[in-house]
Amino acid sequence: MPGLEDLYREIILDHYRTPRNRGELETPPAVKIDGHNPLCGDEITVYLTVDGTGDDAVVTDIKIGGQGCSISQSSASMMTKAVMGKPVSEINAVMRRFKTMMGIDGIEMADADSEVDLGELEALQGVVKFPVRIKCAVLSWNTLSNALDAALNPVE
Ligand code: ZN
Repeated sequence: MPGLEDLYREIILDHYRTPRNRGELETPPAVKIDGHNPLCGDEITVYLTVDGTGDDAVVTDIKIGGQGCSISQSSASMMTKAVMGKPVSEINAVMRRFKTMMGIDGIEMADADSEVDLGELEALQGVVKFPVRIKCAVLSWNTLSNALDAALNPVE
């Protein structure tokens, strides 16, 4: 029987080889935000459309472009699955939980967040043992965060 680490490695490789929600969305209506991790050379482009305003807004579509290491690209793929069709309030909770798992400084897990199910994102928890790769894993989330800001606070 394969161990948990093997299972996690399989999930990461599967998302790297067969990334979900790759592509582009037309801008506008979508917002397009680029993210870059100079330490590793990872690039992520997030295309995002939302419906609604504030925490009740729902991500109606998300597509990912870019290139980089297996951690950055598989994390982006898993991220799209975790946020597609979800309200912003839920996405923020998953984002906090994920960053807490990654040991990002200054993020305290709220009590409510312990209920959050990370699903396949749990597969990335081994990354925390390799501090230089943590930036790879959180790049897509930071880019998503900027994209949500841009989508929810459009500059007139
Ligand atoms: Zn990387």
